[in-house]
Amino acid sequence: MSNLKETILIVEDDLQIRNFIVYSLKNEGYNTKIATTGTQAMNILVTETVDMVILDLGLPDIDGLDVLQRLREWSEIPVIIVSARDQDKEKAFALDMGADDYLTKPFSSTELLARIRVAIRHMNRRENLKKQSVMQVKGLKIDLEKRLVYLDDQEVHMTPMEYTLLSLLMKNRGKVVTTAAIIKELWGPGYGQDTQALRTLMAGLRRKVEKTPAKPQYIMTEIGVGYRMTED
Ligand code: CA
Repeated sequence: MSNLKETILIVEDDLQIRNFIVYSLKNEGYNTKIATTGTQAMNILVTETVDMVILDLGLPDIDGLDVLQRLREWSEIPVIIVSARDQDKEKAFALDMGADDYLTKPFSSTELLARIRVAIRHMNRRENLKKQSVMQVKGLKIDLEKRLVYLDDQEVHMTPMEYTLLSLLMKNRGKVVTTAAIIKELWGPGYGQDTQALRTLMAGLRRKVEKTPAKPQYIMTEIGVGYRMTED
């Protein structure tokens, strides 16, 4: 059964972290490939078959972000970024450049495997998701064709902006959408980095869909990065 599982490329120069990731993945039956530099990673990515990448940002030669940028020129395979705690800006940048998710060091094996499962599920249903017109997370349902939102089977009235924000998060459920990506979608590319309007809009949306807005069960805040619609 293990040979049916995905092949994951681990790009990490730190021996201890690399061993930990490899051990966790092999234990779960995934096939693994290893690169300790960006150049090695690129060589593997262009010559071998890989289903997914775990990518450290701080590599000894080329920046992890460069590896991601080059990979995205021809491939849509999931990429999970691994980064240090103080790199919020880089995380957001990586997500905007097409990374699927990120993990902050130190992370547990359970956390790592959960993120991998989400990314693989996303990859497998990405095409379906695009065609789907009704999406549901727990009691929250959105009908993209009719532009209607329901919470526990009750219709919820949304302003056009709230609706656009909610549908963006729903389409990316399980995944972080960066503040910059949301602002660009809602107000256009010229709007810049003013996050106050988004915070106000988000507060209004949460009042409508969350039972306790201060303890959201649908829209999670990823501090310094963006927002994530929960998946289950
Ligand atoms: Ca490193």
